[in-house]
Amino acid sequence: MASRYIPYGRHSLEPDDIQAVVDILNSDWLTQGPMVPQFEQAFAAYCGARYAVAVSSGTAALHLAALTAGFVPGDEVITSPITFVASVNCIAYVGAKPVFADIDPFTGCLATEQIAAQLTPATKGIIPVHFAGQPCAMAAISAIAGEHNLIVIEDAAHALGSSYTVDGRYFTTGCCAHSDMTIFSLHPVKHIAAGEGGVITTNNKEFYERLCLLRSHGISKNPERLSSSDGPWYYEMQTLGFNYRITDFQCALALSQLKKLDEFVARRRAIARMYSRAFQDEAALALLSQNPGADSSFHIFVILARGVDRAELFKSLSERGLGVNVHYIPVHLQPYYRETFGYGSGDYPLAEEYYRQALTIPLYPAMTDDDVAAVIADVRESIKILS
Ligand SMILES: *Cc1c(COP(=O)(O)O)cnc(C)c1O
Repeated sequence: MASRYIPYGRHSLEPDDIQAVVDILNSDWLTQGPMVPQFEQAFAAYCGARYAVAVSSGTAALHLAALTAGFVPGDEVITSPITFVASVNCIAYVGAKPVFADIDPFTGCLATEQIAAQLTPATKGIIPVHFAGQPCAMAAISAIAGEHNLIVIEDAAHALGSSYTVDGRYFTTGCCAHSDMTIFSLHPVKHIAAGEGGVITTNNKEFYERLCLLRSHGISKNPERLSSSDGPWYYEMQTLGFNYRITDFQCALALSQLKKLDEFVARRRAIARMYSRAFQDEAALALLSQNPGADSSFHIFVILARGVDRAELFKSLSERGLGVNVHYIPVHLQPYYRETFGYGSGDYPLAEEYYRQALTIPLYPAMTDDDVAAVIADVRESIKILS
């Protein structure tokens, strides 16, 4: 038994990242200074979107996107049962009904044909989740949305730095070529860290302006947008907004991290290749497959326990000092969603079958090749003992 501990994910901070924050702490601005727009512009440019709005968390980004989409009580919005609860909660926040569509068991992403099966006259939107870092089939989802006049919000909290191709054309996740908005998280286990933070990208100017308004109490000070003016102090609260602002020092950290994103993603992909090679012939395991058109940025690496009990494998790997995890308990089985919306066991059989097998093993850029080899050895030994 090793005394070492390898977590399932963690941030990578270097002295220059820390210095970037210290510089802001020594400046005149702690919040809403020059770093917020600077980070937003760099983020939008990275994704190839016209606009980016930085907020206090990925969850706040989802809430503002759902409000901006105009989802209201009586509307239905379709998302995946295999995601973090926040993807679904944003639908409930605005009083709409979360409707799940079952997953593609090979990728863990929302299956396009399952979305089609859930459409009703009340459907107003789709929130595809790019599970583990692999972009969903966005061209197909966008086609369904176009046909039924639906708003698409990509939950790309797992997928910063990923990309996909459609008919030979290359798209960076977040460019919003096949959606109305895309959200990201800057939580430390995600691709770049700001402590807490989130971003919404969009190409829609009206959406951009609405997101900015909602982020800060619904208050506008822009003279061009005011209905009247009593003087230079004048501002208006034009809609019911929130304080979902992010601070300048968080954006300084996020901007410093963004410069390293391609490096982080390259390392994540290299580790994922090592795992795939090591486990592809392991009879007791299956791996999620990658669609030919998708280039995942591997937020997490999931193994599926097929010839061995998942709970026993989890216990064995934990005891060996690995920070294993399960992504995710199907959201429709959470007590809140059972009680409030009447969901239950058996509603989404593919998601539930996936959940019984899923186990996340450590993956983050700072893992050394020795760490990766140790994880591989621990998984192999545990399987041998348990099967
Ligand atoms: C992390 C995450 C979020 C929420 O992001 P926070 O920044 O933690 O609020 C939303 N959706 C998914 C899929 C996530 O993994």
